[in-house]
Formats: sequence, C-alpha cells, structure tokens
Amino acid sequence: MKEAKLRLAGSVRAVALTGAGVSAESGVPTFRGSEGLWRNFRPEDLATPGAFERDPALVWQWYDWRRKKISEVKPNPAHRALAQIEKGHPGFTLITQNVDGLHTLAGSTNVLELHGSIWRVRCTGCGTVKEDRTLPIKTPPVCGCGGIMRPDVVWFGEMLPEAVIEKAFEAASNADFMMVVGTSGVVQPAASLAFRAREAGAYLVEINPESTPLSGIMDQRIPGRAGDIVPGFL
Ligand code: NAD
Ligand code: ZN
Repeated sequence: MKEAKLRLAGSVRAVALTGAGVSAESGVPTFRGSEGLWRNFRPEDLATPGAFERDPALVWQWYDWRRKKISEVKPNPAHRALAQIEKGHPGFTLITQNVDGLHTLAGSTNVLELHGSIWRVRCTGCGTVKEDRTLPIKTPPVCGCGGIMRPDVVWFGEMLPEAVIEKAFEAASNADFMMVVGTSGVVQPAASLAFRAREAGAYLVEINPESTPLSGIMDQRIPGRAGDIVPGFL
C-alpha cells in the first residue's frame, strides 16, 4: 500500500478504472454476484438488444427495479475517496463501467461513463437522449416522435459510445498511474484499457477481494474491499 500510495502522490496523469465492485458496498449488486438476480433472469438475458426487441416492457421492469434500488443508496467511502483524489490531482481521470451515477453523486467531475447511465433514456426512433429519473417509469416510455425509449446504457454485444471510448483510451495511453477497482476485467474494453496503461509505462494497482484476469499485469494487487482500501490513498 505504501509504495502504491507514493506512486499516486507522484503521478501527474492518474487514472482510476472502476466496475460494479466499487458500488457493491453501497448496496448495488454486481452482475456476477448472487443478489444480482431479478425474477430468476440473468442480466445476460435482459441487457441485450434482442431481449429489448422481444419484450421492451420486461426489460424496462428490470431497469425500473434497478433504478429504484440505486435511488435508495448512497455513495460509499470508495466513491468519496475517488472524488477527493481528483481534487488533489488535476490530471485525474475516472473511467467507470458503472451506470449508477454514484461517482458523480460523490463529487467526481472528470468521469467517463463507458456504459452510459441508467438515469438517461434514448429514443430507438429518433435518437433523442434525455435525463429521466421518474420512478416508477412508465414501461416502456415513449418519445414525442412515437418511438420507444430505451435505457441509454450499453448492452451486451453493443458498441461503446465512440467519443467516450476515445477519451478513455487517450487517458490510458497517457497514464502514469492506474488504479483498477472492483472490476472483473472480463468485460471489454476494461481489460484493454489496463493493458494500454501498462504499455504506456503506468504503475498499475488492483483493488479487488478476488484476483482477476488483469491481476497478472499489476504492479501491486491489494486484496480487499474498495471502501476499506481506496480511502487509504488519501
Ligand atoms: P462484475 O460484476 O463483472 O465484477 C465485479 C467485480 O467487483 C468482481 O471482480 C468482484 O470480485 C469485485 N468486487 C465485489 N465486491 C467488491 C468490493 N466491495 N470492492 C472491490 N471489488 C469488489 O462487474 P464489472 O466488471 O463492472 O462488469 C459488469 C458490467 O455490468 C459492467 O460493465 C456494468 O456496466 C454493469 N453493471 C453496473 C452496475 C452499476 O452501475 N453499479 C452494477 C452491476 C453491473
Ligand atoms: Zn424519438
């Protein structure tokens, strides 16, 4: 921890890459954890374009359930520490796979949401994107143009928003420090971002109770929960 902390202190372009594990202690289940289940559906069977085509109301019911859960939770010490770290490091970039908005709620401002936001909807007809925090949401919500609205998130098998992914690779390519927190590293491009930072010569730290496919390229693995470990960097 001491070495990792010194590396962060000496860095000028630090990056944090976060996944569902960073929000787990807030009470938002990860997809691979057991309480991620809803009515016996697996997320892989709901978070897909095919599932939405077949049954938009069902997919929206699941999102409505997730939105409700997220609306009831608060950022945890890991989210708050990351927001504090940003304050002390002007070149800091936070790249997240989370769609819950908790990093922003905790005060982080330079946030790249790779997988979109559960609090935005997007029209499948005209492409209009808008924030919608209605709870419960009318399922499925309909756009002014008559098109069905979908959650503005990236589903399994979909491309990531180009502008966001470009910025994320740029940050990783210029990074001198990268903290990988609470991500299983099996969903792309999380893994590639860590490899890119590695190539760029960044110092890599992983914070996760479990080892992951990314553990092998880390300079330092700190096994533990994000809320216990990340505040130690302050
Ligand atoms: P994942 O569910 O695949 O993996 C979560 C990782 O977090 C695991 O490696 C696990 O060991 C680790 N973890 C669990 N508890 C932790 C803790 N307290 N501290 C640190 N690490 C902990 O998550 P993923 O890799 O982010 O990929 C799943 C995808 O599903 C994401 O891309 C995301 O878009 C979506 N998702 C988002 C949310 C959210 O927004 N909160 C929640 C679930 C899934
Ligand atoms: Zn529309």
